Amino acid sequence: MTRTYIKNAGEKIGEEILINGWVDVRRDQGKMVFFDFRDMTGAVQGVVLPGSDAMETAKEAREEFVISVRGKVNERPEKNKQKGKLNGDIELEILSLDILNPAVTPPFNTRGDTREINEDVRLKYRYLDLRSPRMQKNMRGRDAVISFFRKHMHENGFVEIETPIMMKGTPEGSREYVVPSRLHKGQFYVLPQSPQQFKQLLMVSGFEKYFQIARCMRDEDQRGDRQPEFTQLDYEMSFVNREDVLLYTEDMFIKLVKTLYPGKKISETPFPRLTYEESIKKYGTDKPDLRKDKNNGDELAFAWIVDFPMFEKTGNDEIQAAHHPFCAVKPEDRKKFMEGKDIFSIRADSYDLVLNGYELSSGSIRIHDRSEQKQVFELLGISEEEQIKKFGHLLEAFTYGAPPHGGFAPGIDRIVMILENEPNIREVIAFPKTGEGRDLMAGAPSEISEKQLKELGISINTKK
Ligand code: ASP
Repeated sequence: MTRTYIKNAGEKIGEEILINGWVDVRRDQGKMVFFDFRDMTGAVQGVVLPGSDAMETAKEAREEFVISVRGKVNERPEKNKQKGKLNGDIELEILSLDILNPAVTPPFNTRGDTREINEDVRLKYRYLDLRSPRMQKNMRGRDAVISFFRKHMHENGFVEIETPIMMKGTPEGSREYVVPSRLHKGQFYVLPQSPQQFKQLLMVSGFEKYFQIARCMRDEDQRGDRQPEFTQLDYEMSFVNREDVLLYTEDMFIKLVKTLYPGKKISETPFPRLTYEESIKKYGTDKPDLRKDKNNGDELAFAWIVDFPMFEKTGNDEIQAAHHPFCAVKPEDRKKFMEGKDIFSIRADSYDLVLNGYELSSGSIRIHDRSEQKQVFELLGISEEEQIKKFGHLLEAFTYGAPPHGGFAPGIDRIVMILENEPNIREVIAFPKTGEGRDLMAGAPSEISEKQLKELGISINTKK
């Protein structure tokens, strides 16, 4: 007999069906045993009647056992119908019940809202936590958001291209995770902070519209809501100006909300725009929460913040790129920039999208001219030799017909977090790390064997 998914059981009244899944609830009433069974599509009630062949296994089965059930779909008597609930008007008369795999009692109740459980315990048993209805909903919500983006990108002529995970660094303001090379002892790959350089190089290659659901890794001191790895909808377009990127992005977000979260209300369209300077002056932050009611999770106050400074001072008085060194400067500030004058007043042709007080993304129009890119590196105090060593490929690529281009990279974890009304991004990531960057389930990071270290030519001299 072929399997029937539980959500379709109601279409088979009077028929015998086979379902596979888990015991969700079991109520033993002595002569009769009641069950709720669940699979990925929903739940259904079943009953083992007195004298049934299934009684023996029904007595053995416990919650979370994996089962295969053959049963007859009966309509419930009118008074027992639960209106508006999936399978609320049917019941499965269980004819046989096979236990495919028993289960020990889980360390916490996965049938309720697990946010009340200690998070370390949830993370240690994440695969069980993910059974809970809220986490199932979050993961499916995330899938829907990613599918929406992918479809929207394709419909607009973007091509999805994977870029390397093992690469040479892109400086984007964070420390990089380092991967030792066994074949080239003493040499290292790094993990991408973002596909920034690759997506720009793909513009030189003539793809014109690229996107990727990109995993990014940043070795930052963990605070609050950060994760060492996170996901961006990364995209880049050729022959565009800032207005083109903003309008494309804005339209996509409005459609996303309308399609997947129609219960939510966008406060203002077109999204309000503020310069960085205005935002700081008016709200004291570059990610203002513009909701009328700051506690209303169903209100979505998107805003654009534009014209960020191109350069900023670090704590030790050095100059760094405020976003990254590949941003173009605003045409009005180009003269100052090329002359290297008054550099902290130079504005980048950049933009951030903020939502309810969170930064969803930064982006910019990029430099596509070799001498401008060199000028940024020079102002950042990067020597000619370093420039060639670190960015020679990019500088060279710009001499082979690089089109004007710009892009953006909204953070998917944050978007889903806000849309699913969750308080932090761990709730919308299947297997997140703790605030200290640990995987409590498998135990990463962990030491590696002496043999591996030797093969890699690495010796450890500081142990915590
Ligand atoms: N690569 C940038 C980031 O990760 C985004 C962009 O400029 O497109 O912030």
